[in-house]
Amino acid sequence: MPDVLQRSDSETKAKPSEDVIYAELYNAICERQLLPDTKLGEAMLAEHYGVSRTIIRQVLLRLSGDYLVKLEPNRGAFVARLSLDEAKQIYAAWRLVEAEIIRDVTLSITSEQIASLRALIASERKACEEEDYPLLTRLSTQFHLQLADLCSNQFLSRFLKELIPQTSLAYFYDVRKMPLCTEDEHSIILNYIEAGEDESAVAAATQHLDGIEAALNARASLEQKVSLVDKLKSRVPSFS
Ligand SMILES: [Zn+2]
Repeated sequence: MPDVLQRSDSETKAKPSEDVIYAELYNAICERQLLPDTKLGEAMLAEHYGVSRTIIRQVLLRLSGDYLVKLEPNRGAFVARLSLDEAKQIYAAWRLVEAEIIRDVTLSITSEQIASLRALIASERKACEEEDYPLLTRLSTQFHLQLADLCSNQFLSRFLKELIPQTSLAYFYDVRKMPLCTEDEHSIILNYIEAGEDESAVAAATQHLDGIEAALNARASLEQKVSLVDKLKSRVPSFS
């Protein structure tokens, strides 16, 4: 392609808005494409998006309000990182809130809402078959977020929406070996909700979250070793 054409393309290309950049970084962190402790350099991001550093600063501030980014005086912004202990606290809180949300949703869920959740589970299955792990990561948390959206208690719903994205910060090893929500377990939870069996749904959800947390514990001992590999990997952008 001629140089002139390329230049005029980039000149006419609209600059992304603060919201677009925020959403992109938010998703990249939740999909574990940007791993904990990754430096988010203001100048680098400003250049990448073709926007001012002021806009990037606003975005980073918003992400720090979501607890996804840590701002350190004189050092800049980094993707936040959870210790194993903090991760366990998050799962403990998630189990409690999820149980109340399921009890609430079981009373009011409509057939359209069930169909929408089934479609989401089908997308999860497809992402899993296609080994699209970033998408699978996003869709499997989406299942829980969508359930939270159906809850009549907006504070419970808001609380869960704040908690779940932070679970992305608990790991920094290979996403393909991550403990993930499985679509089959989501189906079991949804089947009980549809049948109006709230306590069975709560038990299935508790078991589901226990399973993810157990995998997290089992992998915590590997953390030290993988940390070094991970650091090396981040120095070679083409590493797949
Ligand atoms: Zn799940």
